[in-house]
This record gives sequence, C-alpha cells and structure tokens, in this order.
Amino acid sequence: MNDDERQRILAASRPDTLAVRAGQVRTAEGEHSEALFLTSSYVFGSAAEAAGRFADGGGNVYSRYTNPTVRVFEERIAALEGAEQAVATASGMAAILAACMSLLDAGARIVCSRGVFGSTTMLLNRFIAKFGVGVDYVDATDYTAWEAALGPRTRMLFLETPSNPLCEVIDIARVAAIAKAHGALLVVDNCFLTPALQQPLALGADMVVHSATKYIDGQGRCLGGVLCGRRELMEQVVAFQRSAGPCMSPFNAWVFLKGLETLRIRMEAHSANALAIAHWLRGQPGVGVVNYPGLPTHPQHALACRQQRGFGGVLSFTVDGGRDAAWRFIDATRLMSITANLGDAKTTVVHPATTTHGRLSDAERSAQGITQELIRIAVGLEDVADIQEDIARGLCAARAQR
Ligand SMILES: *Cc1c(COP(=O)(O)O)cnc(C)c1O
Repeated sequence: MNDDERQRILAASRPDTLAVRAGQVRTAEGEHSEALFLTSSYVFGSAAEAAGRFADGGGNVYSRYTNPTVRVFEERIAALEGAEQAVATASGMAAILAACMSLLDAGARIVCSRGVFGSTTMLLNRFIAKFGVGVDYVDATDYTAWEAALGPRTRMLFLETPSNPLCEVIDIARVAAIAKAHGALLVVDNCFLTPALQQPLALGADMVVHSATKYIDGQGRCLGGVLCGRRELMEQVVAFQRSAGPCMSPFNAWVFLKGLETLRIRMEAHSANALAIAHWLRGQPGVGVVNYPGLPTHPQHALACRQQRGFGGVLSFTVDGGRDAAWRFIDATRLMSITANLGDAKTTVVHPATTTHGRLSDAERSAQGITQELIRIAVGLEDVADIQEDIARGLCAARAQR
C-alpha cells in the first residue's frame, strides 16, 4: 500500500481511528510508533538547496519553524477538532498569547467570559492591555450582556466552557452567532473537554485553543498548547510563532501524540467517575452546592447534554464553614494530590480562592463567584470508591471543629 492510498483511507476514517493514526509519516526505518525528531536544525544537500528552502518556506529549515514530530501532533489534533490547520505551542498560555498577538491590533477590544483561567485574566489585563487592547468581561451565561458588550472595535470574543472552577456551560453556537453578526472572531478554550467531548469549530467558533498540558497529555508530564482553525487565521499564528518562538518541544509533542491515542476512552472514564462522585457528594452532610454539568440540577444541564458528548472530569463544591473548613478538608485527604493541575489520571484537589485564583483582587474574585468555601476536584482514573473514601475523610475533618 502506498502513502497516498493510506492517506486517502485515513481521510475517510472516524475520530477514534484519527486519534490513533492521523498525521503519521513513517521514515525509511519503518518504525511503528511515531519517530521522535530531537533536532534543532536540518541539513541541506547544497548551497542552492539551502537558498531554495529559505526562499520558498517549504521543507524543514529549523525546529522553531517546523519539526516532523510536532507536525504529526498538529495534524492529529487538527483532524480531531475538524480544523484545517493546527499550530502547537510551548504551553496553553503561549497558545492564548499567540491567538491575541496574531488576531488583534492596537485599539481592538476583547469580550471575554468572566471565570476564565486565572493566567488568562492576568495575560489580558496586565500584558495585552499594554498594547492598547481593552477587555470587557461579561457573565458567561448572560447573552444579552455578550451582545451589549460588543462595540465597533470588538475583534475577539473569548470563552472557556465549562468554566473553571464553577463549571458554568456557555452556549458556543449562540456566542458564535453574536460574534459573526458583529464581524468579530470567537476563540474557545477547549481544555476542559477536549475534542473527544466537544468540538467548538463545528458549533461556529473561529479558533480553538488548548492547554495540552491537561487531558491531552493526561498523565501530568509535559507542558504544551495548541491552536486550531481555518488556514487563513492559522497563517497569521504561524507567522507569529516563527518570529516569537514559543514553540512546542518535539519531545513534548511525542508524549502528547501518545496521549491522543487514548484520549476518548480516558475522557469517558474521567466523566463517569466525576458523575458518580457529583451525585454522591450531593447527599453528604456539610456539603453546600455541587457544581457539575452532569447533574440534572445544574442550571445548564440541558445545554451540556446537547453541546457535549460527556460532562468532563472537573467538579467543584462548597463546604459549610468557610476557608478554615475548606483547608481542613484538603489537609485531611490522603489519596488525592493537593495540586493545581488537572486532567491527570491522578485525582487532584485545590482551594481556588487561595491558589489558582489567589492573585486576583477580592473584587475580581467575587465577580467570578470564587468563594472561600469552594473546593475544586479534578477527578482522576482511580477507583471511584477509593476517591469517595478520601473525600469522606475530608468532609469529616471539615465538619469537625464547627
Ligand atoms: C491550564 C490551563 C491553561 C494554561 O495552560 P498551560 O499549559 O498551563 O500554559 C489555559 N486554560 C485552561 C482552561 C487551563 O486549565
């Protein structure tokens, strides 16, 4: 079978097949697993060939521009997101930076959902703002507010759904329609669900950004990010990446490729564990609200059922007794890892108000609804019964000194 025939069969394949095989180009060695090209530059056969490659931009020159292992990762994630092209970056934040740097000019404005990742807020407010780009934040699920926030200079709408850590679900198609009507572009951070559970481009978004560090890796090893979208937009991202250099390490791309192969089955397992824990948590003494889109009581449950193929691994809940009780909960756990990362096979627990959202001002934090009694758990792949026992230990300690 020749390569063309292989590519043709692959192009007609279904997502599970793409996740395992898309983008792979075998070398003359005939390796079965994707090759790892740890090389910063590439050699040319002659001075003329070097000049030609520099002139036409085709072929490998330098790994800040292109790297074969990174390219396989980009093609595979593009296939999974249904995108014309993907561009890999050094981290999720580098992907968001690249989106801003390639799509915005001085004087432009961004409309952003409140409750996006803490570093995203910092990047927009402290750094992108320095270049004369303004940001208007809106309540994620108030579509009148989205509409009202758009002005003649609005160039980009940015949202994250489900939101972190409150798990609000935003109607992507609805915000995409608002963006289109105003000639603005919608960028969606799809980190929490991944293309296995949600495809924003199919819902009308213009660009998807990811922190590959989370579920795409799936085992908490490497930092990385990626942007996906139509070629016309990605060309600008490529130009920024080549000049600025926040590119993905080939080693990390190789790890992420292995992550993509098992992405859907992991996402389904994360979702099943999280759903079981969310239902169970609601009945526990000392627990206030439980935020998880899979619960029928969640305000956007119906939307989540429509828009997503699963509810994801992240949930949050409040414990009676404020910050002290939340900290007692966390300190009493023995199995879960106290860490801000998520999207790992290992369950993680964190107190958002004093960690991931700790650098925000009190006003910013309360505008986002991050209270002192809130705890976030990113449910991993351990046995649900063991995770429940650990949560029960925490809840017992949280109730103890009240
Ligand atoms: C972690 C995260 C990011 C940033 O990704 P890094 O890889 O840590 O730079 C962006 N958005 C969301 C939703 C995240 O969880």
